[in-house]
Amino acid sequence: MNEQEKALIAAWSDHSRMWENNTWVYPVISRRAGGLSVGINLNPDHHCSFSCAYCQSGPQEGHKRIPVDIDAVERELRQFLAIYESGEFAKCKAYENVPAENKLIKDICLSGDGESTIVKEFPEVCRRMRQIQKEFTPRLGNFKLRLITNASHIEAPASQQGLSQLLEGDGEIWAKLDAGTEEWFKKVNRSPLHLEKILDNLTKTIKLYPLCIQTMICNVQGEIPSEQEIERYIENLAAIHSANPANLVEIQLYTVIRQTLLKGVEPLPKEFLENVKTKITGALPVKVRCF
Ligand code: SF4
Repeated sequence: MNEQEKALIAAWSDHSRMWENNTWVYPVISRRAGGLSVGINLNPDHHCSFSCAYCQSGPQEGHKRIPVDIDAVERELRQFLAIYESGEFAKCKAYENVPAENKLIKDICLSGDGESTIVKEFPEVCRRMRQIQKEFTPRLGNFKLRLITNASHIEAPASQQGLSQLLEGDGEIWAKLDAGTEEWFKKVNRSPLHLEKILDNLTKTIKLYPLCIQTMICNVQGEIPSEQEIERYIENLAAIHSANPANLVEIQLYTVIRQTLLKGVEPLPKEFLENVKTKITGALPVKVRCF
């Protein structure tokens, strides 16, 4: 492995949300996005509607809510894009050996330490992101706007208001679907909501917007998804897909790679994921990638 490959793998593994003294905006060299993803974290307080078994950052008792400062979000985003445009980011010490093509901007992405759509400032942040996309695209080239979500509140009027702005240009939703059955949903996502609601939200979403489904497959305290669980999961995918096949961008399967807050949550071997991929592609004409 040469120095560039080593640097790229190190950058892909680094999911720190720290950048200089920023609170809201951070860069990630992202394997899934295929280059630089500029993250916006609206939940530095770890506020989330799920409490996933595999979460590294999620809901923590006693965390004080941090109100979103929309002007500060915009300021940090503009400052980072100015650094990127000047070429300073590409020269930055932390990424100096990462190949240049992996440092090209691919998206600005609402992601972070919790669920963005439950933040009341979500619609206004989306509006400003779209404004910035329009302003910077002629100078930086095309990049997408993305939302990474657990889909728990995506149907809410405020979420829909934000999404109509965020996704009016070149945008996508990357949404979590980790379960085929309510039983596994409760085990892995540990939410007071029900899987049926998530499936309903995903089905409504794909009718309107390009959707990528992200699925975590892991061992939760000695239990792994059963054959029947995987079958039901694929049936759920088929139902979402049939609502609007053209809008199902891809399915991303991944496993645990970092320390989780809950003890006893372990990765599954690549072969397990590849086996699930084979079952999905045998059932549906969709693109599936394993990470
Ligand atoms: S949805 Fe994301 S942030 Fe929320 S608990 Fe799950 S992994 Fe953590």
